Amino acid sequence: MAEKSIIIIGAGIAGLAAGCYGQMNGYDTQIFELHDRPGGLCTAWERKGYTFDGCIHYLFGSGRGQPYNQVWQELGAVQGRPMIDHEKFMEIVDPAGQRLIVYSDPERLAAHMKALSPEDAELIDALAGGIRQFTRFDMSVLQQKPRALMGVEDWREFGAQMMPYLGALMKWGRMSAQEFADRFHSPFLRRAIPQMFAWPDIPMMAGLSLLAYMHTGNAGFPAGGSLAFAQAIEQRYLALGGQIHYKAHVEKILVVDDRAVGVRLYTDEERRADYVISAADGRNTVFEMLDGQYADRRIRQQYDGRLPIHSQIQVSLGVNADLSAAPHWATYLLDEPLVLAGEPYAQLSVKHYGFDASLAPAGKSAVVVMFKADYAYWQRIYGRRLYDTEQLQVAGTVIDFLERLYPGIRGQIEVKDVATPLSYERFTGNWQGSSCGWLLTKETMGLMIQGLDKTLPGLANFYMAGQWVEPGGSVPVAAMSGRNAIQLVCANDERPFVTSLPEDGPAPAG
Ligand SMILES: Cc1cc2nc3c(=O)[nH]c(=O)nc-3n(C[C@H](O)[C@H](O)[C@H](O)COP(=O)(O)OP(=O)(O)OC[C@H]3O[C@@H](n4cnc5c(N)ncnc54)[C@H](O)[C@@H]3O)c2cc1C
Repeated sequence: MAEKSIIIIGAGIAGLAAGCYGQMNGYDTQIFELHDRPGGLCTAWERKGYTFDGCIHYLFGSGRGQPYNQVWQELGAVQGRPMIDHEKFMEIVDPAGQRLIVYSDPERLAAHMKALSPEDAELIDALAGGIRQFTRFDMSVLQQKPRALMGVEDWREFGAQMMPYLGALMKWGRMSAQEFADRFHSPFLRRAIPQMFAWPDIPMMAGLSLLAYMHTGNAGFPAGGSLAFAQAIEQRYLALGGQIHYKAHVEKILVVDDRAVGVRLYTDEERRADYVISAADGRNTVFEMLDGQYADRRIRQQYDGRLPIHSQIQVSLGVNADLSAAPHWATYLLDEPLVLAGEPYAQLSVKHYGFDASLAPAGKSAVVVMFKADYAYWQRIYGRRLYDTEQLQVAGTVIDFLERLYPGIRGQIEVKDVATPLSYERFTGNWQGSSCGWLLTKETMGLMIQGLDKTLPGLANFYMAGQWVEPGGSVPVAAMSGRNAIQLVCANDERPFVTSLPEDGPAPAG
């Protein structure tokens, strides 16, 4: 018989993981999710036989026995799921046709880059050396145990694991992709390198780790896409005896004597539990569900709008043509900026999913074009006719651009879909439609390594999990964060934290 109960807000990856580990540890858990499906941002949507993936480009932990893989094994997410590894992460092409191919193999990348710019050999060798070094770095050590539970021995072990990488972390953690690019002689590489990892402010450490994990086969794409991946964790949770309530929007967290005791839904229904874990949007949790009552100065500063947030637009197209011979992900540098929703763009990223046959009908292609968006603008026009017009215009401009790349494509487009920051906000509740909580930059990297508090000052029996307490977000980090929340609950109840694998059978009742 379960001893104690936990209410979890949100069935994103963090909430599902918290649910699974809660059940493994003998708690009686329930998840309340506003949407009608699991996954949160880790999702995909179907239109006329095409599956448009809205999330995973690379999944850390996709390689058996490698960092983060154990958590996916425990969550039943990877068993029987083929992982698709890319030798080329992406290609960056300038208007003259020069092409930087971002190979995940550091030797191949270095040779290719030196052929493009021999005079930058020294910087290129440093880049390849950085990638090689991070192949051995286990990033999951940052979340093995919540900081609040770490004793002297844990810190000693943590220090020993980090020590060999301190130099590399200091060097590459304090330099953005843009700053690294600015050191190059080659005008092409100076333009291309900031686009290598999707945003120019990314700390080089994050980009190098990504290529390192791609090289070791630990950053693949889960066949079937992001929603299927999340659904596997949902199934694991249900098999462990958990309950999910969909279309259940939590309005308030109930508090009695500074102790979280349950939630109130928008329907006014109240549900009680011994613990509440919010794995939903951080700002909403702190300032709406709890009315800002437990927000100290530091937390208010965190949410004062100064930390970087990435809001994006995704134009998804179903194309009646097989584009699989083209690079699966290419960023085109433009001489003439393209104007989309009033913003000039000096480059545009185009991706097709031809590498996973399950995502489009035979002989057809799911194509997506993604770019950073101005949240304030989309919020201002939301609910007005201009919002729909602007979506149509964005799709039209993107299609005009694609027509230049693939003549005739306009006539082959069967489905068009535009997701704006407001779409992400509406469907997942994330502030400004943020794709990862706080965007990982040099500024937020310190917060990522240091780790944000998972509790609120003065509020007992309440924990936070997910991308808003783990700067930079990401699917594995969200999962580890759900696991950390249950480690904290177990510690509060002075019981050992245990885990199991699906083949171990149901967890013993607590
Ligand atoms: C376009 C895109 C690309 C990405 N690419 C990658 C990638 O390649 N690799 C990678 O690892 N990560 C990637 N990410 C990031 C990753 O998806 C997220 O960081 C991670 O999924 C966040 O999980 P979460 O559980 O913390 O939050 P969320 O996914 O936001 O889950 C929160 C859940 O809470 C629910 N909720 C919110 N408010 C309430 C409420 N009041 N009541 C009830 N339920 C509520 C929401 O509906 C949602 O289901 C990408 C994200 C995006 C958008």
